[in-house]
Amino acid sequence: MTTPAPAFIHPSDQAAERGTHYLEGVVRVYMMRSLDDTDTWVLDPASIGDEALLGDEDVENGNCPCERPDECNAAVERMEQLFMPSAEELMHMLATALDFTATKN
Ligand SMILES: [Zn+2]
Repeated sequence: MTTPAPAFIHPSDQAAERGTHYLEGVVRVYMMRSLDDTDTWVLDPASIGDEALLGDEDVENGNCPCERPDECNAAVERMEQLFMPSAEELMHMLATALDFTATKN
C-alpha cells in the first residue's frame, strides 16, 4: 500500500498560515547553445562559479497575503541586501526540492 503524496499547499498560503511574508526573487542561470553544433541548450560554464548568481529583478512581494505593507516592505528591503545563492547552493536547493541527493565527484 502506498502513502498518498501530501497535498501541495502554495507557499503564499503557507506564509499566510504562519503569519509571515511570501517574497519572491529570481536568479539567472545562463545557458548557451551546445558547442557540439547541435541546437540544444547546455549550461554556460563561464557563468558557473563560486560567486552568487545574478538576480534578475528586485525582490517581489505582490503575491504576499500579509496585509501589513510596512512590515512587508521592510522584509523586501532586507532580502534585497542578501546575495543570491551560488550555483552550488542553487543545485542543493533544487536537489532538495526535487527529492534528489546531490553528491560531489
Ligand atoms: Zn508580506
